[in-house]
Amino acid sequence: MDVLTKEQRRRNMQAIRKERTTPERVLEAELRRRRFRVTCNLKDLPGRPDLVLPARKVAVFVHGCFWHRHARCRFAASPATNREFWAAKFEANRKRDQRKSAELRALGWRVVVVWECEIRRQSFPEIVSRIRSA
Ligand SMILES: [Zn+2]
Repeated sequence: MDVLTKEQRRRNMQAIRKERTTPERVLEAELRRRRFRVTCNLKDLPGRPDLVLPARKVAVFVHGCFWHRHARCRFAASPATNREFWAAKFEANRKRDQRKSAELRALGWRVVVVWECEIRRQSFPEIVSRIRSA
């Protein structure tokens, strides 16, 4: 029997959705702590970067390792079934990522990709030095 009311279910779904944005928010907080000026979700930029450092014109994407195919990452293991389906899907993601990065660069932005597993591992010094050298 379903014991949740519609309202409770709605709240649960919202909480889950919020939780899924955690890596972006964690990174945002870390960057702010290091005195970077950070803006999130500038919707009019190509590919909607997750975080933007407007003063430095750096666009940061927080990529899920699975969907964006983080090389040699244990979170990016390929599914064993429907290989062709997944290969096509991953290839489409990869092409879109490339296209959006190219569009941003053409507008004078530098693009930094941060992987979800890096945020999980809290490799912030590494991430920050990548952003600094961008
Ligand atoms: Zn990864």
